[in-house]
Amino acid sequence: MKKITHILGVEVSSEYEDLICYGFDSSIVDEGLPHAVAWPKNAEDVVKIVKYAAQQDLKIIPRGAGTGMAGGSIPNREDSIILSFEKMRKIIDIDADNMTATVEPGTVNGRLQRELEHQGFFYPPDPASLNVCTLGGNIATNAGGPRAIKYGVTRDYVLQLEAVLPDGSLVNLGGRTCKRVVGYDLKQLLIGAEGTLAVVTKILLKILPQPEDIVTLLVRFSDIEAAGNAVPRIITSRIIPRTLEFLDGSAIKVIEQYKPTGLPSGVEALLLIELDGHSATIQKEAEKVISICRDLGGETSVAADKLAREKLWEARRSISPALYHLKPNKINEDIVVPRDKIPFVLSGLRRLSEESGIIIVSFGHAGDGNIHVNIMADKNIAEEYSRGKALIKKIFELTLSVGGSISGEHGIGLAKLPYIEMEIKEREMKLMKDIKRLIDPQNIMNPGKIFIQDRT
Ligand SMILES: Cc1cc2nc3c(=O)[nH]c(=O)nc-3n(C[C@H](O)[C@H](O)[C@H](O)COP(=O)(O)OP(=O)(O)OC[C@H]3O[C@@H](n4cnc5c(N)ncnc54)[C@H](O)[C@@H]3O)c2cc1C
Repeated sequence: MKKITHILGVEVSSEYEDLICYGFDSSIVDEGLPHAVAWPKNAEDVVKIVKYAAQQDLKIIPRGAGTGMAGGSIPNREDSIILSFEKMRKIIDIDADNMTATVEPGTVNGRLQRELEHQGFFYPPDPASLNVCTLGGNIATNAGGPRAIKYGVTRDYVLQLEAVLPDGSLVNLGGRTCKRVVGYDLKQLLIGAEGTLAVVTKILLKILPQPEDIVTLLVRFSDIEAAGNAVPRIITSRIIPRTLEFLDGSAIKVIEQYKPTGLPSGVEALLLIELDGHSATIQKEAEKVISICRDLGGETSVAADKLAREKLWEARRSISPALYHLKPNKINEDIVVPRDKIPFVLSGLRRLSEESGIIIVSFGHAGDGNIHVNIMADKNIAEEYSRGKALIKKIFELTLSVGGSISGEHGIGLAKLPYIEMEIKEREMKLMKDIKRLIDPQNIMNPGKIFIQDRT
């Protein structure tokens, strides 16, 4: 194949050494190789590449940092151009008066967080991958994080999106104001669309003032169901914590083996609970939470200062890499269930693990019912891996039986494509496909992700 270095003045490569760097993400989906990778520097460059792709019958795959867990940015077709946003990373503006931030899509979430912190603001959506993942990727996956229980997810902070449609037109969806009721809210359609409808080139976000104070509690339970029961109890006591994270005994053990952080050993479950607001109020709330947990057999310790708090969060965020010390591969599902069904689902997961002989490690954002279920299975042992994979459907059946959803954060991409119809029924599925066809009649944008488009 002829090597290319530029398309219409935009930097591009078709060198194998470059292409393999964009062939994977953080999912279990097999790697692929695109036709080329392009590094646009601005929206005009994106327009050029999208128009070129349409003319040449090539496909577009937008890519942030490749931390996606569903295969959304994997080149599943050889006729695709990866659009990588490494050269569009500017924080364009932080508007203190209107409490907004304008960023390019390649901006890393954690960089914006740190910049805002200096100025007394914060941007709530905080995926555990925040030091790597991009805000463009966060928009496309509607990313959430531990703070979602109180502050919501990415969708709740997007005021305006500039995007390039599959026909190469540049559109602005939404606006600078907090309120707006003028026609359909089309920007919402792009949020969580996994790059299948348009390429996001500029983002206007709502930001918040930093809370006055934070209290961080670590609660140890010797009974996993008691920990699960504590979650709805805390919420129904009219306290909405800023985070309410859950780790099961095997997650704790694996963190301590990988990178000892002083998490208590020999416990069945931990809750990491954070409260924010005015000091006096959250002290009272903390006392109430401690008492609720004590009634259920939980013992609480309070992080003494910012350093102690950071250490706990570092431990929490190290789970994903730590798991690879248990087995070389993990199948990570991010189911979400109504909060009061957490204990039922946790014991269901334990039963599935015992029946199959496959280790399942669970942790996650228990406050909003979002449990990360990690099926630990070695890909090199074919029988073990297929036993592990067979659990996916069973876990989804369990989830759907209690009114849950098969993905709370990561999306469908390629990884969950075989399962989407377990949740989305025929008529709703057709509606999604019709919308995709209307916006992208040539099926240029990230085809084959979320669902396979029917032939017309
Ligand atoms: C250790 C770890 C922890 C994680 N924790 C969380 C968590 O707590 N919460 C959570 O929600 N997720 C989490 N994730 C998943 C992942 O970080 C998020 O899905 C994130 O939003 C992906 O961002 P990215 O920049 O890496 O995007 P990528 O993986 O590169 O892409 C993801 C999707 O976005 C699309 N896309 C990227 N940029 C654009 C653009 N500019 N325009 C249109 N489409 C675009 C891609 O085509 C793809 O479909 C975690 C992942 C890891 C590895």
